[in-house]
Amino acid sequence: MNTHDRIPGNHDGISFARSECSDGMCCFTCVIPRGNKHVGFFKSLRKGGTAYPYVKLFVTSEGYKDELYDSCKFLNFIISQDATRPHLKMDLRCSIYKSRPSQCMGYPDQAGESVYQKISGPCIFNEYTAPRTYNKLVYKREWKAFYAILDHIDAIRSICVHDDPSAARKLILEARDVRLATITVGSKDQEHILIPILKQTENILYVSEKHQPIATIREAYSRWEEKIQNNLKNHYGDEWESRLKSAIEMEEKDACKRGDEDTAGNPE
Ligand code: SF4
Ligand code: SF4
Repeated sequence: MNTHDRIPGNHDGISFARSECSDGMCCFTCVIPRGNKHVGFFKSLRKGGTAYPYVKLFVTSEGYKDELYDSCKFLNFIISQDATRPHLKMDLRCSIYKSRPSQCMGYPDQAGESVYQKISGPCIFNEYTAPRTYNKLVYKREWKAFYAILDHIDAIRSICVHDDPSAARKLILEARDVRLATITVGSKDQEHILIPILKQTENILYVSEKHQPIATIREAYSRWEEKIQNNLKNHYGDEWESRLKSAIEMEEKDACKRGDEDTAGNPE
């Protein structure tokens, strides 16, 4: 990926709409098999959402290859202006929500690598917003996520509730931390607008005992033992248990240290 200089502007970043699960991250990565086969033949004939094929999820982490994920065909991605102009917000919604496939209804409680292997885990946005210590242990890296919008008038027209796509593009580019970038898609270099995904957790729809925020490694492990253990075994082989133990010890020591500092009245 090559990023270009950003357009100067003093505006706010683009946040998520104040609505439940407005980040829609799982509709790029977790529940959709290749070719959107989860929706079945008849639903696949229905009109799709506004995101596909224009919006992708772009993930970077230092020392690792960039990752790019297509959205589900039925995802609506909408950018609109907040009441407090010129602030922009994005809202990602399933356009067939009431009749969405069973994988989507069961997620994240019944997520799994295949239909035969239903291992529940934290949802992907929970993992994105989890403490650094969790990501460093379970993913072996910290990752940053962006929505990458094809820089083309048809794409802007599809996703923006704005009469004039050129004016909408200008507003998007002026938002804080938004950048233009050349991304290789297949064998083609394409210009994209990169919008950083804020770690804005207040809108997550916590629907079950399993779908809860990740506060500490110990808590996450006790809730999603099987899933986390699989990751650890993959990363560390026979050493997984000792890695887990020392990460938990370190995390708890840091929490105690922070507690002591707070009691003494010093800033963190
Ligand atoms: S918060 Fe989790 S379940 Fe909700 S849309 Fe995001 S990834 Fe999906
Ligand atoms: S069908 Fe709906 S809920 Fe399921 S992945 Fe697609 S957009 Fe998301």
